[in-house]
Amino acid sequence: MPTTLVEVALPLPIPRTFTYQTDERVASGSRVLVPFARRTLIGWVTGETQGEPDTTRIRAVKRVLDPTPAVPADLMRLCAWIADYYLAPLGLVLRSALPAALSRPERSEPPIRTTRVLRLVAELPSLSQRDTVFRRAARQRELFELLEAMDGAAEVPHLTERLGFSTSVLNGLVDKGLARLDEKRVRRDPFAEMPRDVEVVPPLTAEQQAVVAPLLAAASRDAAAPKPFLLRGVTGSGKTRVYLELLDEVVRRQGRGAIVLVPEIALTPQTVARFRARFGDDIAVLHSALSDGERYDAWDALRQGRKRIAIGARSAVFAPVRDLGAIVVDEEHEGSYKQSEAPRYHAREVAVVRSTAAGAVCVLGSATPSLESWNNARTGKFELIELHERIGELGLPEVRVIDLREGRRDSDERERRTAQPGRRDRAPARGAPPVLSPPLVEAIAERLRRHEQTILLLNRRGYSTFVQCRGCGEVWACPDCNVSLTYHRGRRRLVCHYCLHEEAPPATCRRCGEEVVVYRGVGTEQVERTVAETFPDARVARMDIDTTSAKWSHHRILERFGAADIDILLGTQMIAKGLDFPNVTLVGVVNADVGINLPDFRATERTFQLLTQVAGRAGRGLRGGLVLVQTSLPRHYAIERSLSHDFVGFAERELEERRGPCYPPHCRLINVIVSGEDQKSVEDAIATVAHWTLSSIARDARAVTLIGPAPCPIDRIRGRWRWHFLLRSPNASPLGRVGRALLEDYPSLGGDLRLVLDRDPVSLL
Ligand code: ADP
Ligand code: ZN
Repeated sequence: MPTTLVEVALPLPIPRTFTYQTDERVASGSRVLVPFARRTLIGWVTGETQGEPDTTRIRAVKRVLDPTPAVPADLMRLCAWIADYYLAPLGLVLRSALPAALSRPERSEPPIRTTRVLRLVAELPSLSQRDTVFRRAARQRELFELLEAMDGAAEVPHLTERLGFSTSVLNGLVDKGLARLDEKRVRRDPFAEMPRDVEVVPPLTAEQQAVVAPLLAAASRDAAAPKPFLLRGVTGSGKTRVYLELLDEVVRRQGRGAIVLVPEIALTPQTVARFRARFGDDIAVLHSALSDGERYDAWDALRQGRKRIAIGARSAVFAPVRDLGAIVVDEEHEGSYKQSEAPRYHAREVAVVRSTAAGAVCVLGSATPSLESWNNARTGKFELIELHERIGELGLPEVRVIDLREGRRDSDERERRTAQPGRRDRAPARGAPPVLSPPLVEAIAERLRRHEQTILLLNRRGYSTFVQCRGCGEVWACPDCNVSLTYHRGRRRLVCHYCLHEEAPPATCRRCGEEVVVYRGVGTEQVERTVAETFPDARVARMDIDTTSAKWSHHRILERFGAADIDILLGTQMIAKGLDFPNVTLVGVVNADVGINLPDFRATERTFQLLTQVAGRAGRGLRGGLVLVQTSLPRHYAIERSLSHDFVGFAERELEERRGPCYPPHCRLINVIVSGEDQKSVEDAIATVAHWTLSSIARDARAVTLIGPAPCPIDRIRGRWRWHFLLRSPNASPLGRVGRALLEDYPSLGGDLRLVLDRDPVSLL
């Protein structure tokens, strides 16, 4: 075959492909091993080189790794769209989209695991024949007859380790020409061994029926390309049941494939269990705790069509499902669908693009849709379907507010009496309200008496959220980040939640030498302690990043809670998602104000979503439910609207708030960030980048505005200073053009300076 030139995307932060030559035939989507500078990298062939290559010194492909493309054509196109829209190099997109095992140059073979199998190749029909052949070889005869009983084959480790046959017995059968040793591929599926719930399929309610009908119509083979659906269904309205019904049609009846995205798979074992109960081994669970090999096997099973449904978090949107018929995005408002490093894609948007390209049905579901999706439904870009009622004629739980400002005056009194050196970590800060107000304590006590369960939310981990000198006001901050350190009492350390820096808690103030250092701001660890002291007999479990680092640990806590081995489950936003426990009759929000004043235009929306979601965990059984919300801002609209479960009212108000100054969904943003170790260089660089951008957008000057530059709200992380500006436009394409020019034409910043473009950012911190 003559030499051809091919374009190869490499996993490097460089937004272009590279030209290589090869004598072999390689289809686009195949992986190749290529030399780059002094290294060897894995790249993906994107096609033959068109026109003249931009260099004369073209190096040769070292090895073609995939005879047939590793990446199916539809996924190649999807990744190309992501690279273009999210302003990221295609090689980085492909690396994110594929199992890690496929982009390791040092181990370029797929991690296939094999085992040896002993297989019968001859028969001995008559008994006398057996007697002759196995004279003085009783163990061989035993093995022969065992293999017959096992359908003619068994794995060697099973025979030797479990059943105690020696290798010489095995070899004896082989030498006699009765059996053969083969290699067999082992497919790892850790979920295959997990118990599966029994499938119970209650009939659809009338309301569910009404939203299922348009989904099935859209799924029918001869429907025109359907619009994406936004399913807004209050908590407990049975959205999962609706997804199952759609998948039944697409997978069972039509034999097509489907993808189900969940925000974080470890946190939603119940959702996963429902899909497994219904579809069993047709599902590949792309769990974050899978090993590289297990992940590869799940991916390969989908690509080969041996499994037809993929369920997983963000990156499952790239699952190589065949003949895609539906994508479900559960809890579509969740910020975790946006990747916070390059490529900074949003899985919900990718799901919409992928399903549109495939002619598949796309359902975005939530009780509290993102304002982007809500706006798309209002303007007719999405089709809105709604579930207004909870299953079983259960009402939404009653929500009451507890005004923390009222508890403050008494606590000032108490503090004057208790603050003393040596008990520092227990002294409440001035004006701090009690962790649990009397009405909340009383409500919990009542639940304990009635053997019902309580969920307590506080979206802040650690014991105290900052440490301050009473004398001079000094706050202990991370040496590398501009954030205060959190006191973790279990480890007796001050910890930075951004870079994980740790130090010992201070004995005296490092600035003024004063001894009175106070610990302020309550975190989950402190709630746990207060609960334990207030209810010594209660069984309490805490769920936050600090208690769930071990593999499957979320699962275990939730299992115990489901089995009623835990009376009170407390934790961060982790406990607000998707849990369905009918014995939970009380939800307490320890402090609803956490996060509401963050300098980010989505802070209010996030607060509303979190409160509404956690409230939705209460009252899922016949005994009803109560939600108590402690707050100092009872009149704030995010809190007021969540008390009345009024999503629509909240959304209307918040859409107004974002009109001037204009924020998404009314316009689109790119956050342009420059970071580096030297403060002055970063400040100079962002000014230069902003100036360059302004002059280069001449053509789009009216469509795109530049806001800033300014320091990022957290202006230093891991020793790097951070400045940013925003590019804003009502339209996607001029914004994309400006971003692309910046990405491709702006000269490298040099030194340790880094330029980041974050399109459709979910956080501006
Ligand atoms: P959501 O996801 O909307 O919060 P879920 O899917 O968790 O709601 O459903 C809430 C509860 O109602 C679950 O226990 C589920 O099994 C049950 N459920 C859903 N649909 C029905 C139905 N048609 N009949 C009876 N129970 C149902
Ligand atoms: Zn830090």
